[in-house]
Amino acid sequence: MTRVLNPATEETIAELESAGVEETDAAVASARAAYPAWRGVAPTDRARLLRRLATLVEEHHEELARIESQNVGKPIAGARGEIAMVAQVFHYYAGAVDKHTGETIPVAGGIDMTFREPLGVVGLITPWNFPLNIASWKLGPALACGNTVVLKPAELTPLSALRLAELALDAGIPEGVLNVVVGKGSVAGQRLIDHPDVAKIGFTGSTEVGREVMRGAAATIKRVTLELGGKSANVVFADADLERAAAAAPYAVFDNAGQDCCARSRILVEQSVYDRFAELFVAATRGVKVGDPASETTEMGPLISAAHREAVASFVEGEPLLRGDAPDGAGFWFPCTIVEARPEDRVARDEVFGPVAALIPFADEADAIRIANDSAYGLSGSIWTENGGRALRVARAVETGVLSINSNSSVRPSTPFGGFKQSGFGRELGMHALAGYSEVKNVFYSTGR
Ligand code: NDP
Repeated sequence: MTRVLNPATEETIAELESAGVEETDAAVASARAAYPAWRGVAPTDRARLLRRLATLVEEHHEELARIESQNVGKPIAGARGEIAMVAQVFHYYAGAVDKHTGETIPVAGGIDMTFREPLGVVGLITPWNFPLNIASWKLGPALACGNTVVLKPAELTPLSALRLAELALDAGIPEGVLNVVVGKGSVAGQRLIDHPDVAKIGFTGSTEVGREVMRGAAATIKRVTLELGGKSANVVFADADLERAAAAAPYAVFDNAGQDCCARSRILVEQSVYDRFAELFVAATRGVKVGDPASETTEMGPLISAAHREAVASFVEGEPLLRGDAPDGAGFWFPCTIVEARPEDRVARDEVFGPVAALIPFADEADAIRIANDSAYGLSGSIWTENGGRALRVARAVETGVLSINSNSSVRPSTPFGGFKQSGFGRELGMHALAGYSEVKNVFYSTGR
């Protein structure tokens, strides 16, 4: 049995049967049975069905946002933004269905052409931090390419995925095309990885489990896309608009209570402006509104679980530069916390996945690049400078998949998202994601007699 909690109150909001191997196998069988018909749906009809799903998500926007807010402890305003993105993602991939084209290649003696074939049944394993958002980044391209799916949401946050599966049926997407199994990663997730009828695993979560996904996939040569952890650097040069950089920085690390793989949790500041930036950053962080996720003005809610709060707390040693306010009593609360760190400190190297920012000074451009790249991860990051040449030099030198200049936003439906190094591989979103959910088939047609 899976007990689903509201992390802001610790109250049980749902109790669900937990899928084991048998139930997971049944979901794979259902996806397999639905596959031939789904891949045969005419492109314009498949696009129309995805478009209808996007519209239904819009029509149920408030309901889905409330489910997500209650189940993850997200501020309702942020949850609304996330659900809006889910709808945009389905609209985007509805439009992509008939633009994912093959090629003709000049060869002797005939015509050579390529086709983008679906993979078959794909298994999607998703985390608890952005449950429906991250699921949509995988479902959109998977369904657009003609695959059928089994989605295993995190056991802590399965509610929005279950509701989406109902909406998919309401949209007219045939039964068996989108299956959801609620169960433990080590049981239902592992079975998807092992199952011979699953052609690919699309995974978002920790680097540790990502490694297991890759290892398990080797047995059946499954395709994998891995979106894993991060320890992204927010690099602030002395010639930046410091007020703007400092005002934005809290939201780049404390948003979603820091439970964000793109969190800019290492803030690298040029030595000559370090003290001034630290002062502005502390003041801006004091302004972050922490409290009841249902309140319209709340900007940060609790952490996902008691165990996770303990893990986050273990990163704060000694007296931090700032420990903000957080509610007392029920709920897995943790305040916005700023520490001063050296690049070799644990808080500056490991993914905290909580509202803890590490401030680190650097000497010059080369030093900033060296510290930014001194990480096993390479997911995201920001560069703040008014010098255009430097912005592009540093952007090319930093080893991460997604960067923003004079901004902290990394994710848009139409642009590729994914990591370098141990942050994973494969790209989600944009047209790039379609490559991860299709195979290229090459066909030669002889025109000789
Ligand atoms: P996990 O990597 O453990 O979980 C992510 C997903 O994988 C969940 O659906 C989980 O299922 C599933 N899973 C777990 N073990 C297995 C397995 N052996 N085989 C198949 N699937 C499995 O992340 P956590 O939620 O435990 O978070 C731990 C840390 O991971 C965080 O503190 C953070 O550092 C990082 N993380 C990074 C994310 C990102 O966006 N890149 C997202 C979430 C976490 P279930 O939980 O239901 O058992």
